[in-house]
Parts: sequence; structure tokens; C-alpha cells
Amino acid sequence: MLIIMDMDGVLVDVQGHIIELRKKNTPTLSDITEWNMCNIFPEGNGVYHYFNLPYIFSDAKPIEGAIEAYTKLLDAGHEIVLCTVVPFDSHNGLHQKITWAKNHLPNFDHNIIATHRKDLVRGDVIIDDKIENIEMWKKMNPNKPAILFPRPWNKAKDWDNTVKAWGEIVDYLVGYNDPTVKLCGRSYYEE
Ligand SMILES: [Mg+2]
Repeated sequence: MLIIMDMDGVLVDVQGHIIELRKKNTPTLSDITEWNMCNIFPEGNGVYHYFNLPYIFSDAKPIEGAIEAYTKLLDAGHEIVLCTVVPFDSHNGLHQKITWAKNHLPNFDHNIIATHRKDLVRGDVIIDDKIENIEMWKKMNPNKPAILFPRPWNKAKDWDNTVKAWGEIVDYLVGYNDPTVKLCGRSYYEE
């Protein structure tokens, strides 16, 4: 199957990178309980300047389990297309993201799409951490699975195909044609 895979917050720990760069004890990752980070960080909109740094995406660490999962999905014969938003003011944002993919993903073959309209991207399944992306894509693809990747900023969102971590996504997609393999069900998050 063709897997549409988000980068930031799914493969790439950008939020964790921002927290590391701030060199402050709070907020922590688990404190970011909503999408708009300006409502969480004391500097308000000032926090968004981190997204414009010339290394914010390229130097971020992978999310735990992401590289192993990516590799297993490729080995299972799936095709993966990275689908990511590039902030308007970011410094070489797309180039940074390609650099990250080349540095971290085995057999990365330039399959990357930059768009704010992920619902227009064709595939068999989407994995994303933003509920709005999931909902819009599902509207266009009502019979296909849309997986909400668990992050603190979406833990309050109710979505049927929410998983606990990468391992569960791998189990689900590797065995996708096996009717006994199912996603866990209701939305929940475990830190
Ligand atoms: Mg994301």
C-alpha cells in the first residue's frame, strides 16, 4: 500500500528540538496540550521564531521508534511518501526536511510532498498528528484508514484510529490484509 506519512511530530521531534534549544525546564513536551504552541509557551507568538531557524528541522531528532518503523514498513513492501507542511517563513524549510530524510531514512528516494492541503494527496492510508489533517483526508477517503499519531497536543481529540506508538502502526500496516489485525480503537495517550 501507499502510506502518506507526516514528518513533524510523527517522524521528526521538532517540538522536542525547540524545547532543547530554549534551555528551560518548562514547558516540557507533555505540557504542549494544544496545537497552537503560542498558548503554551510564555513568549507567546515568539515561540514560532524557532521554526524559522536554518537548522530547526534538519537537526531535530527522530521520534522514538520512527526509523525502525519506517524500515519495517518498507521491508513489508509498502511505499512511503512523506507529506509535510513547510512554514512560509522558514529558512530553506523544504531543503532542511529533505536533508533530515536523507540523513535518517534508509532508502529515502525523494518521495516527499510539501503542502498545506494533505487531503489532496492520494494514498491508501495517512499517518499524521494533526487532527484537522486526519479529518480532512478522511472526508476525501472515507473507506481508507487515517491514523492519528499520539502526541500530547492531540490526546484530548477523539479519533477511532489512534494508536499508542509506532510499534502498533507497524503491526497494523504490515498485517493490513489480515482481518484479525485491528487498531486498538478509541483515542488514548500514554506518556
Ligand atoms: Mg505533524
